[in-house]
Parts: sequence; C-alpha cells; structure tokens
Amino acid sequence: METIGVIGAGQMGSGIAQTLAQHGYRVLLSDVDLSAAEKGKGGIEKALGKLVGRGKIAVSDAEAALGRIEPVADLSPMGDAAFMIEAATENETVKQSIFGAAGKVLGADAVMASNTSSIPITRMANWTPDPARFIGLHFFNPVPVMGLIEVIPGLATAPETTARTRALAESLGKQVVEVQDEPGFVVNRILVPMLNEAVFVLGQGTASIEDIDTGCRIGLNHPMGPLELADFIGLDTVLDIVRVLYTTTGDSKYRPAPLLMKYVEAGWLGRKTGKGFYDYSGEAPVPTR
Ligand code: NAD
Repeated sequence: METIGVIGAGQMGSGIAQTLAQHGYRVLLSDVDLSAAEKGKGGIEKALGKLVGRGKIAVSDAEAALGRIEPVADLSPMGDAAFMIEAATENETVKQSIFGAAGKVLGADAVMASNTSSIPITRMANWTPDPARFIGLHFFNPVPVMGLIEVIPGLATAPETTARTRALAESLGKQVVEVQDEPGFVVNRILVPMLNEAVFVLGQGTASIEDIDTGCRIGLNHPMGPLELADFIGLDTVLDIVRVLYTTTGDSKYRPAPLLMKYVEAGWLGRKTGKGFYDYSGEAPVPTR
C-alpha cells in the first residue's frame, strides 16, 4: 500500500485524504497540530458516514478507508511517503514554511505537490528541496465528488514527475487536464474573475444576492450562483486567488472587489464560518444583505 502525506486538513486536505484512502492509499494527515489533523479525520468520518447512509458505499469500505488515514502531529513520519501533497492555507509565507519543513523529510524519490489554486508553481518550486520533483496538483471542491484534476508542471518539473503525478490523479478515477504554469491555471483563471465581478455587481447595488445567484443559475445554467459558490469555496480563498491574479499579472482587471475584502475582514468567510453572502445558521441559507 503506497503512503501519501497530506499537509493541511481543512476542506481540501480532508477531501484529498478521503479520496486517496477510498482508493486504497495509506494517508498521513497533518495540520498545524495533532488536534487539527484529528479534527480533519473527524470530518472525513462524517462524510463517509453520509455516503454509507445514502447507500453509496458499504460500511466495511468506509471503515477500511477511515482505517487507512492516520492523523500526525508534524511532517516527520512522512519520510516513506511516495507523494507529499500540500493543501494548506493559500498564503505564500505559510506554504514556504511548510516546504522548508517538508524538505527535511521528503524521500529521495518522492514527489512534492501543491494543491494551490493560484500561486505560481515555478515560484514555489524554489522553496522545495528539489524543483524537478515539484508539481501543481489542483483538485476541485468537494474532492470526492468533483471529477477533474489540473496537473501543472513548473519550469523545472521533470517529465517523470509529471507522468507519475498524472498516474496518481488518474488512479483516483479523475479526468486530468495538463496546464501550463500561468496565474490561476485554466479553471480559476476563468472562474474567479467571475466570482469577483459578482461581488462588484452586488457592491454597486445592481441586484440583490438572491437575484444575482438566481440570474446566473438560470441564465447561465450553472448549478450554483456565483455568490453561493464563493461562500462554498471560502471568501478568504477567493480573495487570496484574486490577489495572486492581480499581483502576478499587474492587470487592474483583477483588482479585488472592495466588498469581498470587507466580508473577509469581518471574518464572514462563507460556509466554513457559518456566514458569508448567506447566513447558514438556520434551516435554509438567508442572504446577509
Ligand atoms: P481551509 O481553510 O479549509 O484549510 C486550510 C488548512 O490549512 C487549515 O486546516 C489550516 O489549519 C491548515 N494550515 C495552515 N497553516 C498550516 C501549516 N503551517 N501546516 C499545516 N497546515 C496548515 O482551506 P482549503 O479550502 O482547504 O484550501 C487549502 C488549499 O487548497 C489552498 O491552497 C487553496 O487555494 C486550495 N484549493 C481550495 C479550493 C476550494 O474550493 N476551497 C479548491 C482547490 C484548491
């Protein structure tokens, strides 16, 4: 059984760990400390329980998957991992310090991958022990459900690293698209400016939260409106991605919507904090403006 280290046990890290475990990999799951990693595993247990409840997987498969996930206090047990997948907060300082620590344990043949949504892979590669064995592996949320993974080689990524990473992604039953290392890659480069624009539209009073979402759901035939989707992704993550697009390209069309910054400053980060463009504390979400 191949071992994979997952760093960051938030919504993405947990989803990645769950998906890997359901496909037979042994997962070492870390976060800022052991209790945060254990909390991540607790969320995975609930998610697997729901799948069992809906008859999607057998109890024995859920138990086996859960048994393959081991929360760890730090990266030191990941020395025998074939891959280390970083899925921590979208912040360059955070990721740089993680790669520094990972460099002390990464095995000689292991691949280090980042689930970053927008930070350039070539830039991050320089913070890692071996840029030839570093790559972007961009999952979509929720990971167990979404069928796509973007594989993003940086300038220094070795072809063998790309081939191994593609094989890992495909072993999870996902469709892979290979993307050049450009800001936002493909999907977020197109999606995130739309979410940011929806917040400009809201801030300018053009329409209400519900009407913006209804308009896009029905008018564009999207499963979710842009403001509900932003809440789902996390408004801090959306803002981080917009900022990377803005600072990396220097193009003013990517400037963050002031109202998006205000929501993040208020700590209204969307579903994960219970409140964003909608309040999730009741039975049904209620718009916050
Ligand atoms: P999140 O806020 O749910 O989780 C981030 C986790 O990282 C938290 O549990 C936090 O405690 C942990 N963390 C912070 N510093 C750490 C450190 N030094 N060591 C280990 N863990 C640390 O965020 P998320 O939505 O899971 O996003 C994680 C990454 O995935 C980001 O790079 C984000 O851009 C990317 N991503 C997010 C989405 C999405 O829809 N949310 C989609 C694709 C990719």
